Amino acid sequence: MICRVCDSTRLDLVIDLGQQPWCNHFLRQEEIGKEPFYPLKVVHCADCETAQLDFTVPKETMFGDHTYLSGVTRSLSQHFEQVAHEVNQRFFSQHPDKTVLDIGSNDGTQLKHYQKLGWKVLGVESSKGTAQRALDQGVPTQNVFFDKIKAQGLGGPFQVINASGVFFHLEDLHSVADGICSCLAPDGVFLVQFLYMQKIVENGAFDQIYHEHLLYYNLKTLERLLQRHGLTCFDAYLAPIHGGSMMAFVQHRDGPHPSTGREKAILAEEERKGSNRKDWYLNFAQRIAQMKRENIEILGERKSRGKRIYGMGAPVKGNTLLNYFQIGPATIDCLVEKNELRRNLFSPGMHIPIRMENEIQTAPDVYYVLAWNFKHEILKNHADLLARGVEFLFPVDPDWVA
Ligand SMILES: [Zn+2]
Repeated sequence: MICRVCDSTRLDLVIDLGQQPWCNHFLRQEEIGKEPFYPLKVVHCADCETAQLDFTVPKETMFGDHTYLSGVTRSLSQHFEQVAHEVNQRFFSQHPDKTVLDIGSNDGTQLKHYQKLGWKVLGVESSKGTAQRALDQGVPTQNVFFDKIKAQGLGGPFQVINASGVFFHLEDLHSVADGICSCLAPDGVFLVQFLYMQKIVENGAFDQIYHEHLLYYNLKTLERLLQRHGLTCFDAYLAPIHGGSMMAFVQHRDGPHPSTGREKAILAEEERKGSNRKDWYLNFAQRIAQMKRENIEILGERKSRGKRIYGMGAPVKGNTLLNYFQIGPATIDCLVEKNELRRNLFSPGMHIPIRMENEIQTAPDVYYVLAWNFKHEILKNHADLLARGVEFLFPVDPDWVA
């Protein structure tokens, strides 16, 4: 194994979450027990300091089809709308011919907001069903894996290239980065939205570690990768999406956009906290083990008092948590979910059945909230249940959520 960013062989194990199933594949009844398990371990590179998985599930398994739809949640769609407005106004308000490419465009939610502002849009989405859904809604989308070769045939250059939570499939990382560089206009802005590792650690949100996320960037480690491909970050800030996502604004190394200084402040904070250092991650590993002991104890106590417990949401990340904690249907009767694509399916590994939210007749005594990043939305939508004494437990309870 060599480092996915810098090719170093000096990789140290820092977090071991055991053997886990491919978390984005919810199971049909007949698939239960047949799902393969893969190691889920985070290693830290002693040279470039990037945290990363030491094992890659084949990308056809990971991205060939999935059931995550970004349009499903209102707060995420609102965030994407705000992003489109910000980019349009800050950089291209006077530009006559505006084009945006979204890599990993999902169901086209982000691009629809650009369309409303008069932009010409193109999405690239590797999941066939999801790409079709975007097409059905009038968002031009190609069903391919983006890389250096594919970049040539997309009709660039683009003023804006967007990548939300997808800049991590790094079998092809360097090819993806080269492709972005080649089809980004000279004055273009590449907006990378990624789970910010420093915040993941501070939130205790270890469930964000799963096979799809091969790399765990801080701003320093992202910048190192960008530099290698002739790109550089000139602005960045944190947004509350997924409990703390970094919005990094990137341009060509000789691009025209002046630094705002915000990215430098973030880099300085990483240095001060030591969040790129190996011991930062070793401390995190200890905290994760402690969370497991605490969660098993709390749920066991509720069970011993005869309480009925449902999971709230069946997010992909919930499978990391359930499998690592070893919480199954003996503890949680079902996972309550809105996404119709997950109807009648079971969680991989722990095999908890999924039920649709609008079909739940009687509320449980306890909701164990796996979709914790939508805490405020969930508590608001279920104010009636709270008033009736239903308990909402948050296994991960960050200080900052949508
Ligand atoms: Zn490295």
